[in-house]
Amino acid sequence: MLKIGCHLSAAKGYLHMGQEAVSIGANTFQFFTRNPRGGNAKPMDTADTEAFRAYAAEAGIDVILAHAPYTLNACSADPSIRAFAARTMADDLERMEYTPGNLYNFHPGSHVGQGIETGISQIAEMLNGILKPELHTTVLLETMAGKGSEVGSRFEELREIIDRTEHGDLLGVCLDTCHVNDAGYDIAGDVDGVLTEFDRVIGLNRLKAVHVNDSKNPLGAHKDRHEKIGLGTLGTEAIIRIMTHPALRELPFLLETPNELDGYAAEIELLKGLWRQK
Ligand code: FE
Ligand code: FE
Ligand code: ZN
Repeated sequence: MLKIGCHLSAAKGYLHMGQEAVSIGANTFQFFTRNPRGGNAKPMDTADTEAFRAYAAEAGIDVILAHAPYTLNACSADPSIRAFAARTMADDLERMEYTPGNLYNFHPGSHVGQGIETGISQIAEMLNGILKPELHTTVLLETMAGKGSEVGSRFEELREIIDRTEHGDLLGVCLDTCHVNDAGYDIAGDVDGVLTEFDRVIGLNRLKAVHVNDSKNPLGAHKDRHEKIGLGTLGTEAIIRIMTHPALRELPFLLETPNELDGYAAEIELLKGLWRQK
């Protein structure tokens, strides 16, 4: 069965997100662990997480994807910003233990002129301080568009981070269709070729989730501007080819398109219908 959902607001808690997901035809969802610009998270409401877990089991929500605040930068040149990233991620992973067995996605970071090499080693250093085998969450590195000094727009960079992390076996990857296109991988024109390359460099066993977005920009633009499904440079047909690819079709697909709830509901309905036909 297709696992599909979208990004939802976490403001009203876990149970509310679960119910909202079901109301728009979704069986998974993504949310920010805290304000996307960082800052403190609300205290954990265990009555809410317990109610959510019971509801999810009943509603067939098998997996959810938490997204770290996008200001988190593990390879800032400023040590206090790196320390904040480490603290935030460690705290997020502790909170994820109230909903065990799920996914936590983060942007590897921007090296801000320090160079890819330094960026990669600082990201691995942070992960080495945080990842512990007793955690019940799979931490995902997101494939990035390569905007500015972003690390992680080349599969080799993600591989290198995994290799340098002591508990690298706890790491996975979340593939963002807009980002890989913008990074220069022709996922719309040659999904087979891109996944073969992903498998060669990282290993398809690492791929745990897909962000399904159309892109406002052409292949290799290094921009990162998401578009609604079918209105961008990827197009609906290519997106369905990606979602029905044998290596991907069982993964959770999360929309991060510029939409309100009704727009997400329509995209979910469209993609479900097309997916079933393939
Ligand atoms: Fe992201
Ligand atoms: Fe994304
Ligand atoms: Zn993006």
